[in-house]
Amino acid sequence: MKTYSVKELLSEGKTQQDVVVKGWVRTFRSNRFIALNDGSTINNIQCVIDFENTDEEVLKKITTSAAIEVKGTLVASQGSGQAVEIQAQTITILGASNPEEYPIQPKKHSLEFLRANAHLRVRTNTFSAVMRVRSALSFAVHKFFQEDGFYYVNTPIITGSDAEGAGEMFRVSALDAKNPPLTEEGNIDYAEDFFGKETNLTVSGQLEAETYAMGLGKVYTFGPTFRAENSNTTRHLAEFWMIEPEVAFMDLDGNMDLAERFIKSVLGYVKEHCADDLAFLEQRLLNEEKTKPQNERSPMPLREKIDFILDNNFKRVSYTEAIEILRNSKPNKKKKFDYIIEDWGADLQSEHERYLVEKHFECPVILFDYPAKIKAFYMRLNDDGKTVRAMDILFPGIGEIVGGAQREERYEVLVDKMKTMGIDEEELYWYLDLRKFGTAVHSGFGLGFERLVLFATGMTNIRDVIPFPRTPKNAEF
Ligand code: ATP
Ligand code: MG
Ligand code: MG
Ligand code: MG
Repeated sequence: MKTYSVKELLSEGKTQQDVVVKGWVRTFRSNRFIALNDGSTINNIQCVIDFENTDEEVLKKITTSAAIEVKGTLVASQGSGQAVEIQAQTITILGASNPEEYPIQPKKHSLEFLRANAHLRVRTNTFSAVMRVRSALSFAVHKFFQEDGFYYVNTPIITGSDAEGAGEMFRVSALDAKNPPLTEEGNIDYAEDFFGKETNLTVSGQLEAETYAMGLGKVYTFGPTFRAENSNTTRHLAEFWMIEPEVAFMDLDGNMDLAERFIKSVLGYVKEHCADDLAFLEQRLLNEEKTKPQNERSPMPLREKIDFILDNNFKRVSYTEAIEILRNSKPNKKKKFDYIIEDWGADLQSEHERYLVEKHFECPVILFDYPAKIKAFYMRLNDDGKTVRAMDILFPGIGEIVGGAQREERYEVLVDKMKTMGIDEEELYWYLDLRKFGTAVHSGFGLGFERLVLFATGMTNIRDVIPFPRTPKNAEF
């Protein structure tokens, strides 16, 4: 007898055939109907057991989350749910699960409660759906770039340069924790840190990706990045995955085109390949909406939101125009955006970004040409001498999803900029070399993978779209 996944049985299983399936019990009703799930799909297969001929000991152990093997015949289903079900002949308990102790009951738990059970939450419909969508998105990322002529580059996780994220990096230490080298005063000698050099966990692979773009042409990284930000928001993690393409001979307009094409492509892939999971997640959200007061309900169901992105052009707006809009906006009358009116150079706060995306334009927005002062040293200076070729993509419900730029390719200008911003030229000699030997216009962006998963799944807290979230005081396992 052949073993099948639940997904295979439900989508292409031939009736009247003997099958084996293994999974975890979701529910067991009336001593007869087991809803079995093996993680391959959101859907369960119903197994109808022969109560009379099933051992009493086995019956007792068919409880929620027990791992079982079912042997039986696939038949057309009598009930309304699925097209097929299994007429079970033998049930084998592979791993019992004591219902008195199992923390996750079939009743609906809060997401907070499930977060505290991060090792078991994938047994729930919501998390298994999110994780399947995450996996599909991650495949779609590689598919898009590979089919578009990009090469995948692995940039280092441990890095000696701290040029970009000064202050928000995690330090890496190779010291023997039990027996660290000590200074004469008896303190730990961090000068000996990483075999004599101070190193950190990467906050972005961009500078290294640029190096490879200036030789391979079109490259992307897709790996973990780390930021020691002690912020407890629903959009920040201390460890998150970032997608960073970098392309030689591409300017900022090309960068915007690439980012828009990329986002549409991966969301289109998920729409096509995760239909059941998206339908489930959408229903979950609709049920949640019903518990809210009428005026707080979100008007657009999840799949329509995705379609909206696929069908509409992102609105491109310069920072200066955005400031104008904010100045003339209603909330301004309530003095909410006051400090921006006084200061053209201010960075936008998330409430400004959300106003632009959700109230003013009502579609994704690409903001570009930011004041040089609020952006990193490597961004291409415009002829006005005060703005840089930076772009941020803002998404409804999420805020910033992408940060990118055309890079400063002119050696002299870059050195000047580094001097005024106090960036160590010696440490970044390799970065400057790219401008000395065959420099070229080039651009790229960074997209936070979890923010993309948030959008695609309709989840609202970033802790719920990564298997093991790392946030302040949360890194037990
Ligand atoms: P934010 O303004 O939201 O803090 P940022 O401007 O600091 O983001 P960038 O340095 O531009 O972030 O990084 C590129 C992208 O990485 C962001 O647009 C976002 O999608 C994602 N990102 C940044 N920080 C985090 C984080 N702590 N957790 C998850 N994703 C993040
Ligand atoms: Mg940040
Ligand atoms: Mg930002
Ligand atoms: Mg940014």
